[in-house]
Amino acid sequence: MSKRMNPAARVTVVALAAAGLGATMVTGAGSAFAAEGKAVTAPVAVTASAAVAAQADAQAHVAAQVKAAAAKAAAVKKAAAVKKVVTVKPVAAKKAASWVKPVAAYTLSASYNQGGAMWAHKHSGQDFAVPVGTPVKAAGTGTVVKAGPNGGGDGPAYGNAIVVKHANGTYSQYAHLSKIKVHIGQKVLVGQQIALSGNTGNSSGPHLHFEIRTTPNYGSAVNPAAFLRSHGVSI
Ligand SMILES: [Zn+2]
Repeated sequence: MSKRMNPAARVTVVALAAAGLGATMVTGAGSAFAAEGKAVTAPVAVTASAAVAAQADAQAHVAAQVKAAAAKAAAVKKAAAVKKVVTVKPVAAKKAASWVKPVAAYTLSASYNQGGAMWAHKHSGQDFAVPVGTPVKAAGTGTVVKAGPNGGGDGPAYGNAIVVKHANGTYSQYAHLSKIKVHIGQKVLVGQQIALSGNTGNSSGPHLHFEIRTTPNYGSAVNPAAFLRSHGVSI
């Protein structure tokens, strides 16, 4: 509790003072006192018993206030507890990942923008070295827009490839596949198996070539490792 005297307690003090003075001033002039004791309208008429009654009243008032304050604090606490439960729920519900890595176990090999004899330009994706036949999963939910040999239309260097269209103008591409398990127009869910990895096309060894693009086509790739990491996926 605060050390500051509350208004009700002050009334009690005034009433007690009035009682003390009143006892000696019953026959005296009350005007000077009346100016000070604004809670007491007729100080000369105040008697000891009236003061006791006033004190009892004030105490009751204080008790009521304390009770009310306690009830209010309990209500606030209860409201806070309810609010806490409400805020915890969405966090738990949000836990379902919207992006995942395209293969579960791998060794990172050639990275995005890496130069070398393998590529006409800089490397346009992230390579995940995995044995032929490793399940390849859709990195995000979307719709298959390319699926087939010759990079699904992007060129023979990609071998068998798939491109999936996601929300917000993002596309993911999977290349050098040994087996394609989806078809154009098919909707896929994040983490759904769409192919088996391979070594088709211009590939130096079994691996998955993975791109994130801003269009369905070759030439619009962005850094896929950075993209995944910025979406909470550590690779
Ligand atoms: Zn590659």
